[in-house]
Amino acid sequence: MRSYEELLEKAIKELPKEVKKSERFEIPKAIVQREGNKTIIKNFSQIAKAINRSEEHLYKYIVKSMGTAGLLESGRVVLQGKFSRDEVQKEIEDYVKTYVLCKECNSPDTEFIREERVLMVRCLACGAKHPVKGI
Ligand SMILES: [Zn+2]
Repeated sequence: MRSYEELLEKAIKELPKEVKKSERFEIPKAIVQREGNKTIIKNFSQIAKAINRSEEHLYKYIVKSMGTAGLLESGRVVLQGKFSRDEVQKEIEDYVKTYVLCKECNSPDTEFIREERVLMVRCLACGAKHPVKGI
């Protein structure tokens, strides 16, 4: 049986391009749950999917900039330490601004490429590219 997400994705793919394009991009909202000394990002894989980046890359960024350790397992992230939803959300937003959005046209429709070992974000909408720091 197909999951709701798969059906939804199929439906989105089948929408005419113009409709998809005019959709306003929204940074996904983190669903955060605290368990003792740990903070769990429950919808981590959906977030990575929505911004079209690998879970590993986003995960590395978050643990590094929050200065903690953690675990990426079965679509969720378990962080060591107590963090608020706002703190987690801020990291995701910073990541999107740095590693996803095009600096020229602000489109989220971008991809990573490497040019002479430099990691770049290339925009699929306007073709602009800009280098970004590796994590
Ligand atoms: Zn662009």
